[in-house]
Formats: sequence, C-alpha cells, structure tokens
Amino acid sequence: NRQIVLASRPFGAPTADNFNTIETDTPQPKEGEVLLRTVYLSLDPYMRGRMSDAKSYADPVEINEVMVGGSVCRVEVSNHSKYQVGDWVVAFGGWQDYSISDGENLLKLDRNIPNPSYALGILGMPGLTAYMGLLDIGQPKAGETVVVAAATGAVGSLVGQIAKIKGCKVIGIAGGSEKCQYAVDTLGFDACLDHYSDDLAKQLTQVCVDGIDVYFENVGGKIFDAVLPLLNSSARIPLCGLISQYNATELPQGPDRMFSLMGALLVKRIKMQGFIVFDDYGHRYNEFSEAMVAWLMAGKIHYKEHLVDGIENTVTAFIGLLEGKNFGKLVVRVGPD
Ligand code: NDP
Repeated sequence: NRQIVLASRPFGAPTADNFNTIETDTPQPKEGEVLLRTVYLSLDPYMRGRMSDAKSYADPVEINEVMVGGSVCRVEVSNHSKYQVGDWVVAFGGWQDYSISDGENLLKLDRNIPNPSYALGILGMPGLTAYMGLLDIGQPKAGETVVVAAATGAVGSLVGQIAKIKGCKVIGIAGGSEKCQYAVDTLGFDACLDHYSDDLAKQLTQVCVDGIDVYFENVGGKIFDAVLPLLNSSARIPLCGLISQYNATELPQGPDRMFSLMGALLVKRIKMQGFIVFDDYGHRYNEFSEAMVAWLMAGKIHYKEHLVDGIENTVTAFIGLLEGKNFGKLVVRVGPD
C-alpha cells in the first residue's frame, strides 16, 4: 500500500520535500468495514490549506499523516451489508492505494457508470461549488455580465458555462492563450483574457462595456484589483477561493486595499459572500446533480479532465495545480479500473 504523507509544512510554495512516499501493509477491514482500492484521486487547491497548521475551517493534516483527498474507489473486500465487492464508491480515501471505511460518508455509484472519475469533478465537489456559488449567491440574470477567473479549471469552466445557460455575457480570465482560446471556442465564453498580459485591467475594461454584475472569485490578487473598479451597483461576489494567495508568505505589494474595497461595497451596495461548499450546500447535492446530469447529457456543458497516470506523479501534479499547470479538472489515476 503506497501512501503519500506530509513530511513537513511548506513555507510558500510546496516542494517535493514536503511529502514522503511510504510502503505499508494493505489494511484489513473489520466487521462492518470495507477495504477500498483507490482508482481515481482528486487533487484540489484546498489541500494546500491542509498542509498548513494556520487556523482554518478544517483541521490540518498532521506530520507523517496521509494527505487527504476525495477519491473514486472500488470495493475490494466488504464486511458491510450495504456494499459488495466491485462496487464503485466516492470516498475520502486520501493519497494512497488502499483505505478502510465504515461506510459513513461513502457515496455509491452505479456499477455501470460511464465516467466514474466525473464524480470528483463536474458531478462532484467542484460542480456543486460552481452551481451553488453562482446560482445561490451570484444570482445571475439574463443579460448581465459575469466574470470568472481560473476560467478553464474545474470550478471556473462550469461557472462560465452555467452563466451562459442562464443567458449572461461571460468573460473568463485564464493563464495563457491556449486556455483562453479553449474558453471561447469550446466553452462558449464571450471573451477570455490572459492574466499574464501586462494590461489585464485595461483589457477587462474594454470587454466589460456594461460593467460587471457578478464576479465569481476564485483567485484574488491582481485579478480582483482589475475587477473592483468595474463592479456595478448591486453586484454580487460569490467568494469561492483565493488561489493566488495560497502560497503567499507576506501581504501583497502596494497600498492597503481595504479602504477601496469597503468603500466600493458600501456605495455600490455590493454583496460579497464566502462559502464552504459541503458545509453550506451539501444538503442540496441532489438538486445540483439533477440539473448537471441533464445539461451534460444534452451536450450543453463541456468538461475537460486533466488525467495524470500513477500515484508516483501525484506530488508533481499537485505542485503544478498551484502554478496553473493543469488544464481542466486535475485527477490522478492511481489504480486500474
Ligand atoms: P482549478 O482546476 O481551476 O485549478 C487551479 C487554477 O488556478 C490553475 O489552473 C490556474 O489557472 C489558477 N491559478 C493558480 N495559481 C494562480 C495564481 N497565482 N494566479 C492566478 N491564477 C492561478 O481549481 P479548482 O477549480 O478546483 O478551484 C478553483 C478555486 O475554487 C480555488 O481557489 C479553490 O480553492 C476554490 N474552491 C473553493 C471551494 C469552496 O468550497 N469555497 C470548493 C472548491 C474550490 P490559470 O492557469 O487559468 O491561471
């Protein structure tokens, strides 16, 4: 059983030294438990937070503990009446080949499901995040302008496409021309800007001719600086993530932005709301799933996975996620189907 454990806490960007791969015996399930073999492991930005012991909404991974993560697994041994050998389940198995579960918090998938790994992306946590963050907090109306960064990623790509379904004008922001072209040509965004370009703020002003009504915040930093002056009265900001700051070791350069932010929130009556997806919206999973499955089946939503083969490539892939190296939802194929 290969396990990737947290060896040390990073200062700034994580490096390979912060992780250790160890071999342990395959665990044995007791009565009422199942042995799960990880087939797909989800890599997500929140894992950077778990590597840190700063106070957060969830406990950190302890040193020498297995890194946490959502997974799609096969039941390998079952001592649990609800599960049979060979069942597909969504679990929180972590960065390892095998894990044990008592059946709590497992989601059973159809045995003949065509794309089991989708349960980690479009039909799972990132999908629910995009759907609820945009629709419940963002409240987009037809004709409004929606801006989303990390626009080709797991969450952003879905936010933009749902906003298009709702009749909005959608502007993406992504890293590099290839991602931007994909956002327009395949995802159907009205425009997509490269955040590496020097004049992002100017370009954003040019494409958002009617201002911005909904800014779905995934990134923070200089992208938020460019967005803030363009927000319309009564704009909504679902505050989903701040990935540009996850590796930061100090406050951003430049003037204190607190006053300009609070001033804009006040005079423009802007609503900005953070959310933690499963805590706030876990109970609405079925409502989301019904809508998303229907859109997917009708070809109204495109989904791109960035599949990495082999648990040995997990650390490099995760470090890359925080540098924009993934193109689509990052998933590691740990074991054979
Ligand atoms: P993505 O699949 O979008 O991958 C991360 C992307 O973020 C990268 O590909 C890159 O895209 C972008 N990025 C990384 N570093 C930077 C940087 N320094 N500056 C600008 N962009 C950067 O990840 P997810 O869709 O899974 O997550 C998107 C956001 O949503 C994250 O902030 C995450 O923490 C948050 N989230 C929050 C949840 C909640 O419950 N609140 C739940 C799920 C996700 P590019 O190359 O285009 O810049």
